Amino acid sequence: MPRVIQGKRSMSGKLKIHVDQDKCQGHARCKALAPELFELDEFGNAHEAGDGSVPADLEDKAWLAKSNCPEIAIEITEV
Ligand code: SF4
Repeated sequence: MPRVIQGKRSMSGKLKIHVDQDKCQGHARCKALAPELFELDEFGNAHEAGDGSVPADLEDKAWLAKSNCPEIAIEITEV
């Protein structure tokens, strides 16, 4: 079972991001901060790119996007 990480930086494991569509309001801050990790639909709502896997060199951007989402819509899990 993937573990949801609440605002704490993980030191090991691979990270996955997920955008909660019920919370996302389409501010696109995540896309501006981490364009490699997010895609926007025609309404401007964000989705994780691909299966949400975060390459090791983009982990900082994933945390940055999560901490800047005003709707707390971005989940980061360690898989
Ligand atoms: S910053 Fe948050 S609310 Fe805005 S588009 Fe990204 S996930 Fe959605």
